[in-house]
Amino acid sequence: MRMIKLGHALLGLNQGRLRAHSHCAQNRAELRSSSQYGCFYCLAIFPPTDVTEWVGGEDTALCAKCGIDSVIGSASGYPITVEFLQRMHDYWF
Ligand SMILES: [Zn+2]
Repeated sequence: MRMIKLGHALLGLNQGRLRAHSHCAQNRAELRSSSQYGCFYCLAIFPPTDVTEWVGGEDTALCAKCGIDSVIGSASGYPITVEFLQRMHDYWF
């Protein structure tokens, strides 16, 4: 796991974390229209074709790298960057 600690004041995205978390469940339609996915557990960023496992009635993506259902797609409107995923990680794990 990459442990990159960035200054929390850097991007000012803290207020988006709670809402962003709701995008990682029952997100298949949203993920389908995303060009990129990010996992905020292991901080992996990968293309849609890498997601092969789904849970929750085939509606919730599992990370292609770590298998945790902490995947968010770019169609959510959130930036799929290591910086953003790290912020989510710090908050939820
Ligand atoms: Zn992962």
